[in-house]
This record gives sequence, C-alpha cells and structure tokens, in this order.
Amino acid sequence: MNYSDQFKRVQENIQKAKEKSPYQQEVKLVCVTKNHDPSIVQAVLDNGEYCIGENRVQEFLTKYNAYKDRTDKLEYHLIGSLQSNKVKYIIDKVDLIHSLDRLSLAKEINKRAKAIDRKMPCLIQVNVSKEDSKSGLYLEEVEAFLEKCLEYPNISIQGLMTMAPHTDDRDYIRKIFRELSNLREKISKKGYNELDMKYLSMGMTNDYTIAIEEGANIVRVGRSLFGQRDYSKRYY
Ligand SMILES: *Cc1c(COP(=O)(O)O)cnc(C)c1O
Repeated sequence: MNYSDQFKRVQENIQKAKEKSPYQQEVKLVCVTKNHDPSIVQAVLDNGEYCIGENRVQEFLTKYNAYKDRTDKLEYHLIGSLQSNKVKYIIDKVDLIHSLDRLSLAKEINKRAKAIDRKMPCLIQVNVSKEDSKSGLYLEEVEAFLEKCLEYPNISIQGLMTMAPHTDDRDYIRKIFRELSNLREKISKKGYNELDMKYLSMGMTNDYTIAIEEGANIVRVGRSLFGQRDYSKRYY
C-alpha cells in the first residue's frame, strides 16, 4: 500500500491549521497504526514521520518487536486506556503515555518506572464532555489529581489529553477543545515546581484541524492516513 497522498494531505492540513492558530505552536503528528499490520510502521517512516500511536498493549508490543532494531528512529505513544497490570510490559518501551486517568495507575507507573530508574512522561486524560462512554477525569478534578501525581517522583506529567465527542457539531467540538486548552494555560500559570505542561494532545481524523486551531500540539490521526480499520483482523 502507498499512503503518500494521505500523508501529504494530512501534513498540509496540519500546516494550514497551524497558520490559523493564535498559538503558533509546533505540532507533533502521532500516526495511529492500530488495527494494521506491523509493516504499516515502514509506511510511517517512508512518509517522513516517526511517531507511532497504539491503544492496546499487546498490539503495541507486536509492532515494537517487529521494529526493534530501529527504535531509535521511532517514538511510541500509548494512547488507549491502560490496565495497571500491563504497565510492566511497556514501561521501558513507550515515550509517552496519553491515558493517565486514575491514581492506582499513577502508583503502578511510578513503581515500575522507579525500578528501571526512569521518569515516565505522562499526559492526564480528561473527559471534558463528561460522556459515560469515555474515560478520563472531569475538568474540575484535574488539578487535585495533578497535585497528587506530583508526589510521584518517577512520573513526569507533561500535559493533558482528550477525545472530542462523536458529533457533527463542529462548534461544540471547538468549545470542548478550548476548555481543555484553557485549563492547560491555567495550570501552567500556577507555576507548579518542575512542572512543564508542554503537551496538549487532542484531535483525531474528524477534528484535528479544529484541535490545532485551539492549541493542540499533538494530534493523533489514524483513518485519514491509513483508511478505515478492519476490526475483523487482529495483529497481536
Ligand atoms: C483510534 C484512536 C485515534 C485515531 O482515531 P482516527 O479517527 O482513526 O483518527 C486517536 N486517539 C485515540 C485515543 C484512539 O484510540
């Protein structure tokens, strides 16, 4: 499969959205390779990208192992909800966990990171729209949670992540992104010791340009790059 047209289109759209954004930010494209054969990683590299997003630990490990000898060229992001008992498999392999959403998970990440003398970069996942189907903290819970996380020396909180509601209402999606963007700014201004809220991970295929206009500097894109996922296939 040749994905170069799709990559070009997404890269151009990101560029245009950056130009519209008042934040003037650099944007990291996380190529969401879930539900695709490990060879998809090569397509990412061939198109000038390096950042892989997976939402399941097993599937991530399959791809990681397939490209073991080139991991220095790749960056791996765990974007899906993470069970505490799986942290040990990924702690030395992923570059950023997007889905820190509870203290029990923070505790486990801290413990496993400590054992390998690492400070694990994590984003706090926020359920801005308060949908039952979504994980993540509510906006008003984030600061108290963050303060607890700061007590874990082997976790490095580096920002916030959210998923927009599944709706055609673009104004509502924008409002949700803006709320998280504002929260990040508020937390940054508080000036917690040693805290750099540098990342705002929001925006997927349906809404990544809106997200960038509202300040996202990480977008997680799957279908726009690789087409529809075939859930009858499993790669783990
Ligand atoms: C699958 C997934 C994406 C990518 O979604 P697309 O609609 O294919 O762009 C982004 N973020 C998370 C957390 C995902 O699980």
